[in-house]
Amino acid sequence: MDAETAWPEGVSDGLLLWCEDCGTRPRFDYRVADDFWLEHVKGDTRFGVVCLPCLDRRCRGVGLAEALLEVQWTGTKHTVVLKPTLLHEYEEGAHRGS
Ligand SMILES: [Zn+2]
Repeated sequence: MDAETAWPEGVSDGLLLWCEDCGTRPRFDYRVADDFWLEHVKGDTRFGVVCLPCLDRRCRGVGLAEALLEVQWTGTKHTVVLKPTLLHEYEEGAHRGS
């Protein structure tokens, strides 16, 4: 199989773009459900990059865990696609202990 033509659609090949919100170059790429993306990312920004922490801020954490399809980490000449296997939610402040 030819490695250049076998690269899967939607899998990051280098994360070259900067986040539209914070201006950083994300170290991790991700995919979320289309309806979630369209709800929280408006206008021309839809065609750019919003890093995962900034998307979390945009939605205030509501629904992101359910909408997150995968996280992608791109290293040198390779990308690893990480799929969610567990979902945990907590009440704000509950993780700080009492
Ligand atoms: Zn950002």
